[in-house]
Amino acid sequence: KRYVYSFNEGNRSMKELLGGKGANLAEMTKLGLPVPPGFTISTEACHLFYDENKTITEGLIQEIKKAMAEVEITLEKKFGSKENPLLVSVRSGAPVSMPGMMDTILNLGLNDETVLALAEETDNERFAYDCYRRFIQMFSDVVLDIPHYNFERALQRAKEIAGVTEDTMLDAAMLKDLVEEYKKIVRKSGGKSFPQDPYEQLLLAIKAVFESWNNPRAQIYRNINKIPSHYGTAVNVQSMVFGNKGDDSGTGVLFTRNPSTGENVLFGEYLMNAQGEDVVAGIRTPQPIAKLNTHMPEIYEEILKLCNTLENHHRDVQDIEFTIEKGRLFVLQTRSGKRTSKAAVKFAVDLVEEGLLTKEEALLKVDAYQLDKLLHRTISNEGNIEAIAQGLPASPGAATGKIIFDADEVEQMGKKGEKVLLVRPETTPDDIHGMVEAQGVLTTKGGMTSHAAVVARGMGKPCVCGCDSLDIDLEEQTLKIGNRVFNKGDVLTIDGSNGNVIIGEVELVEPELNNDVLTVLKWADETRDLAVRTNADTPQDAQKAREFGAEGIGLCRTEHMFMEPDRLPIVQKMILAETLADRKKQLDKLLPIQQNDFYGILKAMAGLPVTIRLLDPPLHEFLPDVAELAIELALLKEEAQLSNPDIQKREDLLRRVKALQESNPMLGHRGCRLAIVYPEIYEMQVHAIFGAVIQLINEGVEVLPEIMIPLVGEAKELEILKDMVNRIAEEYKEKSNKELKYMVGTMIELPRACVTADKIAEHAEFFSFGTNDLTQTTLGFSRDDAEGKFLPSYIQQKIYQDNPFAVLDREGVGALMDIAVSKGRKTRENLKIGICGEHGGEPSSIEFFHNLGLGYVSCSPYRVPIARLAAAQSSI
Ligand code: ADP
Ligand code: MG
Ligand code: MG
Repeated sequence: KRYVYSFNEGNRSMKELLGGKGANLAEMTKLGLPVPPGFTISTEACHLFYDENKTITEGLIQEIKKAMAEVEITLEKKFGSKENPLLVSVRSGAPVSMPGMMDTILNLGLNDETVLALAEETDNERFAYDCYRRFIQMFSDVVLDIPHYNFERALQRAKEIAGVTEDTMLDAAMLKDLVEEYKKIVRKSGGKSFPQDPYEQLLLAIKAVFESWNNPRAQIYRNINKIPSHYGTAVNVQSMVFGNKGDDSGTGVLFTRNPSTGENVLFGEYLMNAQGEDVVAGIRTPQPIAKLNTHMPEIYEEILKLCNTLENHHRDVQDIEFTIEKGRLFVLQTRSGKRTSKAAVKFAVDLVEEGLLTKEEALLKVDAYQLDKLLHRTISNEGNIEAIAQGLPASPGAATGKIIFDADEVEQMGKKGEKVLLVRPETTPDDIHGMVEAQGVLTTKGGMTSHAAVVARGMGKPCVCGCDSLDIDLEEQTLKIGNRVFNKGDVLTIDGSNGNVIIGEVELVEPELNNDVLTVLKWADETRDLAVRTNADTPQDAQKAREFGAEGIGLCRTEHMFMEPDRLPIVQKMILAETLADRKKQLDKLLPIQQNDFYGILKAMAGLPVTIRLLDPPLHEFLPDVAELAIELALLKEEAQLSNPDIQKREDLLRRVKALQESNPMLGHRGCRLAIVYPEIYEMQVHAIFGAVIQLINEGVEVLPEIMIPLVGEAKELEILKDMVNRIAEEYKEKSNKELKYMVGTMIELPRACVTADKIAEHAEFFSFGTNDLTQTTLGFSRDDAEGKFLPSYIQQKIYQDNPFAVLDREGVGALMDIAVSKGRKTRENLKIGICGEHGGEPSSIEFFHNLGLGYVSCSPYRVPIARLAAAQSSI
């Protein structure tokens, strides 16, 4: 087995073996581009290194020497020679780009003797010693662990003594002295002299690269970016070219197009008489790349050609590193350029227009996750922002406003046009009216799928949640971080795209769905198989979603309608009614209100299907809290402020609310179980639906309601309730003499429903997977408890790779879905199947749903464009 590959041998498809940098250097070599010769020590050698107790085996050393010999022959130089020494750089390069690993070492191979040869050969003593002092500093820092600042200090002193301001102004003699000074520092700090043997230098450097794979910075980066740690890194050893040979030499970095706006112009910087990272290190101010056109027009021409070649070859925008040595151009790196979402979209459209990409290929180049950013306000000057705290990026977009701790107050201020942020430990359905009027929501508890997060995403409202370094004191109305205190009314900014909390007001940029985005989405629509619907509970949401391209409503929850402040008292009376007659009386009051709700939604979605879920949550969610009631009652009694009948009435209320309490509400009396015990509730809802349908038909509006029964676990439940729906529908048909187009189906959200889907499908005209509940019931843990308590440890210990409430658990929940789909379709070949959980807007889960053969996904309005793109990407 071999471990070393010359740049002449590899190609770009070998990234796993050669690392990204090595594979691309080989590819460019193959293209005949001016790449300094060299070789790559593979990632397999990295594994070998760790297997062999962190040693470089003798066999590998021989391979390295052989590869070096080839470079020597090509360049007619010799590594370590006292006449024409070959110098190399040692560069790390993992299969995926990974900042945080080892810094590059340049000019390796220099020692007290080769430096003399270099000086003589180039007739440039100053240059030779400049290389040597750079080499000692880099090597010491990276390999010998002697901190940078020791050398920086010495350099600073040398400049002061010489009375100059720039490194480049130090002459040969001064640099010679500096080298001696550096070597002293090495002896003192490292306890040994600077290694003089070039092969010893090389092997130490290679070892350092391998070891850097596991340094803390790299590990943290891998964790955050979910890069597997078994990849390992490759090492590139490359002959040096010199940008520090004088004023006809230099070094630079550039993007073939503007990575921020997407504009098709070179974007980058260069610095003359400089080496390596000088451009980015801020030692001197670099020049914009356009300046090179007047400065060295021939080189500029050559760079343009190079960019063209690389873009055409990779069919993507490139990020390139180059060096000019005495008027000759060399290319040292190319990779696909990182880009903003705006640029990504523009690149995609432009590259198709230029004939470089097909539409399908272009669609794959836009990151669906990133598209999110285009739909929300962003912070204009991200670089200069310092966050005081960081929570979870729960709902993207930035928002600035006065902090307010009470939803009612937020609502009042918001309605007056003031910009406010709702700040709460966590939110509940009682806070919704405040969320509606807030610019954004900040919570200190709760995870990515907490109430605040889910509702905010649904509203397209920025939200940072679970920001536990912040302390809210609701009594004092303050927000504390460390010993800083913010009072109610102070202004903060949150960025829901990264979780940052920032002091004061920050300039925001409005989102724009520009023509490029619309073009990409149009292509996505032509390509995808999955339909994309939205979860919407109000006509406004429905409207918004339609603008974003939703093709119907996949989930209209009716409980939010019950929560509205004007109806809640009726709802509560209905729930607490002790006789059927009494309950029906209250339901009759709700009927016209509810009918109006459905009228609005069905009208907003005219011509498109609307899935309406009948009431789902346990009834006590609509009632006041038992503990609060009890405390209130106790206080009133103590102060003897109540007459006896009043006490009686309150005790009675407390008793009835208590009776509805459940020890496990998630698994309690909810969903279709409500209607099995109290059929009159669903009956009212169904009347409201068909009442609205008839109204709209009379107005000439096309309506396609799909009535959805939640939480069915046994076919019989559905059978009973479907018969009820059909019976009521018949009444309306007869009364109106109209054809009614509607469907009855169920939500699949219990494991039992999945495994008995064939039976359920006998009664269901459609299935809609409720993956939130299905995840809870399959994994056996409730979302709120999991995210608040143990799930973070599970993810940290990699028991689960991702939060299963955000990214669908394919192995568990996905397997049940698979069973449900095949069993359901066995009974009913053309069964309509969709998904309406949170996962419906998550790109990797969408890919899974596509593969399962579902008909549609449904997600919150602001995720509709993302889902359209992700669905298209799954189809390609
Ligand atoms: P990073 O991965 O941090 O970008 P690189 O390995 O690309 O590190 O090296 C950083 C810089 O060092 C390069 O951009 C280039 O300017 C310089 N460099 C690396 N190898 C050579 C070389 N053989 N000759 C000249 N400069 C080099
Ligand atoms: Mg680089
Ligand atoms: Mg559910």
